[in-house]
Amino acid sequence: METLAPPVLREEYIGKEAPAGKIPPASSFFCRFLAGSRLRLRSVGIMRFGARSKELGARKLILSDKFGRPITDLRISITDRCNYKCVYCRTGNEGALYGDLPFAEYLRMARIFAALGIKKIRLTGGEPLLRNGVIEFVRQLSRLRSADGEELDLAMTTNGHLLTETAQPLKDAGLDRITVSMDAVDPDRFARITRVPNGYDHVLAGIRAARRAGLWPVKVNCVLMRGFNEDQIIPFGMFAREEGVIVRFIEFMPLEEDRTWSPAIVVTLDEIVQRMAEYRPLVEIPHARSETARRYHFDDGVGEIGIIAPVSHPFCGHCSRIRITSDGKIRTCLFSVWDHDLHELMRRGAADEELVEFIRSVVQRKEERHHIGEADFVPASRTMVHIGG
Ligand code: SAM
Repeated sequence: METLAPPVLREEYIGKEAPAGKIPPASSFFCRFLAGSRLRLRSVGIMRFGARSKELGARKLILSDKFGRPITDLRISITDRCNYKCVYCRTGNEGALYGDLPFAEYLRMARIFAALGIKKIRLTGGEPLLRNGVIEFVRQLSRLRSADGEELDLAMTTNGHLLTETAQPLKDAGLDRITVSMDAVDPDRFARITRVPNGYDHVLAGIRAARRAGLWPVKVNCVLMRGFNEDQIIPFGMFAREEGVIVRFIEFMPLEEDRTWSPAIVVTLDEIVQRMAEYRPLVEIPHARSETARRYHFDDGVGEIGIIAPVSHPFCGHCSRIRITSDGKIRTCLFSVWDHDLHELMRRGAADEELVEFIRSVVQRKEERHHIGEADFVPASRTMVHIGG
């Protein structure tokens, strides 16, 4: 069931939607799953001891990897297609595309993951807003419950090009938060980076629409590349304060289609903090252990900046993430050289219990850390656009 991911051209399923109807809460899945599965034999001893033991039983079912990291954060790519061709991500030509699945199949995966302790789901791509039916899919995801019976935290990463029209419907459907990618705050530079003319105004309008809709907090991601857009650091600082959004700088990672990455192109966390101080000093504020970004306020308390520094300050030790690709493969790390084909199992008619066992075994294989910049670094088997950030 493990495949070295080849780039495949698959027929698109665009427009297919999950069937309407009520989604069984994760807890009812739990009960069915405990009642019918082989795991019941393992769990049955625990279940005898009443409420406390029930809690223990539930805890036992929560996903964690062999390094003891709880897996609570699922990212689902719902399409490989993207309407932008950002220079740090894509070649500029339409390359190989992986297929995507009907929403009902992602929904089933999400339901099972939720029962196993996932608390946050982020939709990504490709560009998730290109997919017909995404709003209805969000509505269905919002009816799922975590293993504790809590609502899931639902977020999306988008280039924002189609957000003006979709922000309010997404919020109404149950989306909590949004992250918009934007790598320059000047329209010409933005067009050079995205290779799309006139995108900047759409994205800015999308960011404002997201704020108005209450998709809070609105985060704006900027990947910095030396010699290309590192002069945008201070303008982005001003943008964060003026627009009331959290700007997050991301260190460029070797996940691009062109394989142009080199350590010299990476603008590091230390440089960003230093450069921003020429405008106003940043003061670090606490962040959750599993959070990817280090967080800062300006010295006057106005405006928040995040810096995601996987290259200069790796945070793999606290990684709580797992990903599903648009074609239904599990990836345990952005830099995995293997995919694990969950969809193939589903296609062959596997019951939920079998999927659970498969997911558990895959999670045990989660990589300890990435090896960016080291002599033994092996490029990931997919580039970022085919994984979902
Ligand atoms: N289309 C959506 C978007 O633009 O946000 C979602 C997909 S995009 C692949 C997700 C995120 O990955 C974006 O914030 C993008 O800037 C980031 N990204 C892409 N390639 C990257 C790289 N090589 N290093 C760091 N971040 C990257």
